[in-house]
Amino acid sequence: MKTETILITGANGQIGTVLGQALRERFGTANVLSTDIREPAAYDFPFETLDVLDRNAMFELVGSRGVTQIYHLAAILSAKGELNPQWAWEVNMSGLFNVLEAAKKFGCKVFNPSSIAVYGGETPKIDTPQHAVLQPQTVYGISKVAGEHWSNYFYQKFGVDVRSVRYPGIVGYQSMPGGGTTDYAVDIFHHAVRGERYTCFLADHARLPMMYMDDAVRATIEIMDAPAEQIKIRTSYNISGMNFTPAEITAAIQAEVPGFEVAYEPDFRQKIAESWPENIDDAEARADWGWKPAYNLPDMTRDMLANLREMAS
Ligand code: NAD
Repeated sequence: MKTETILITGANGQIGTVLGQALRERFGTANVLSTDIREPAAYDFPFETLDVLDRNAMFELVGSRGVTQIYHLAAILSAKGELNPQWAWEVNMSGLFNVLEAAKKFGCKVFNPSSIAVYGGETPKIDTPQHAVLQPQTVYGISKVAGEHWSNYFYQKFGVDVRSVRYPGIVGYQSMPGGGTTDYAVDIFHHAVRGERYTCFLADHARLPMMYMDDAVRATIEIMDAPAEQIKIRTSYNISGMNFTPAEITAAIQAEVPGFEVAYEPDFRQKIAESWPENIDDAEARADWGWKPAYNLPDMTRDMLANLREMAS
């Protein structure tokens, strides 16, 4: 396989921690440069501090290292973004511009994740189609819609090979989430394994699209691997994994952890959840580049609990 030189922004976050490891296994540790504004607690792989708002520093790294692919994960997520909208807009938009400009100048392929947060308002909530109306209710969602269109623009206008999926809420044991509306679905497992009661910030019936981390990482690698002519959508692809409510994930955990208790105290994040779809139609991703999720709720629950228990022992 052709050797790539990879740069990951926001690599110390929930997805970057796991995607970084997968990319190192695939392309070799020396060929994957992880960057973030926060240094990992401990690491044995190439890492540099990089603020995505620092265009000169980004150009310098991409140029001097001969980077061929950028995985742009640095972002301010939905819940955190609502607490400081202008900052979220600045990081999400200027960060993306710097990545797209670097890719244009140095000829890199780009992965720019979007989110189910692009949906809202009049979007159909059931089997949300690829080309549904986009009326996001959060600054995060607005930045993701704009980012999807800028990615498409750089592809159409300058031929930058940008690829994207709209991740649902991601659940994994390897890392902690960074301030999204679906973070509860990770926290709940940590409480269950510690034998603690969990207080959920969403209502028991808040159904949202979700995906196990293994599937999210595989989707990312598969879309980046696909031949360019198979990538027909250059804004972002819907991808689906599973969907569940807090009550359903609680029941799935209780099947493995009898006596586990959950209380519900919905906060401002419930309103965000209510603006998002319940499940996603990903027919285009399946047809164009062969997307197929592997994990359902019971599989994910067993794998999460087994791994968290092992990490705790
Ligand atoms: P995260 O919040 O866990 O990680 C983001 C990382 O970006 C953090 O490590 C943070 O330190 C870093 N960062 C913030 N500002 C920065 C800056 N100015 N310069 C450099 N780094 C900076 O997020 P994540 O969950 O890993 O998400 C990665 C991508 O996937 C984001 O684009 C996010 O919008 C998208 N996404 C995630 C989910 C999910 O459920 N985790 C769902 C949909 C989309």
